[in-house]
Amino acid sequence: MVIGILDVQGAVREHRQQLEGLGVDVVLVKQASDLEKLDGLVLPGGESTAMRRLIERYELLEPLREKAATLPMFGTCAGMILLATAIEAGQSHLNAISMTVRRNAFGRQIDSFEGLLPVEGIEEPIEAVFIRAPLILSVGEGTRVIAKVEEQIVAVETSLHLACSFHPELTEDNRLHQYFLQKIKQRQSVRS
Ligand code: GLN
Repeated sequence: MVIGILDVQGAVREHRQQLEGLGVDVVLVKQASDLEKLDGLVLPGGESTAMRRLIERYELLEPLREKAATLPMFGTCAGMILLATAIEAGQSHLNAISMTVRRNAFGRQIDSFEGLLPVEGIEEPIEAVFIRAPLILSVGEGTRVIAKVEEQIVAVETSLHLACSFHPELTEDNRLHQYFLQKIKQRQSVRS
């Protein structure tokens, strides 16, 4: 299995470690041709406005939008913002997951926190690290909520994509990455 990581800014190294620990080959994606031959793509956390600028500079916006129709993507934090069809106060980016997000939603006081989070489809709660995290305000058709913190939506999936407002790559807990890989495998086995 070959998984790309969008390598313009953010927590690329940590995702790489998680994925390599799970035995997949990693491709760092910096240009459109890197998107060929991938089984999935991770969009890491970082700063979504900076990422957008770099995505445009590397001429990746249209290729990523096109790929999002068929290539499974997993966005964490800023990566989740990139996947949304709508951002409360700003322009959207890849329009891949039908949902509206609010950036920096947990406020400055609780900028960052960690906790154990139950996620649907994963047996025991996972370790979740939130850093100036976005929230999902609402989801549209085809988007399923899989985790909430105090009634606020923090993780979703569609038949193709997965997104969470926290950073699973900053812990030793690799079960959400495993979940993404399983999702890809299941899809591939149905299609072949
Ligand atoms: N606050 C960042 C943004 O809006 C996301 C934070 C993160 O990825 N840790 O892009």
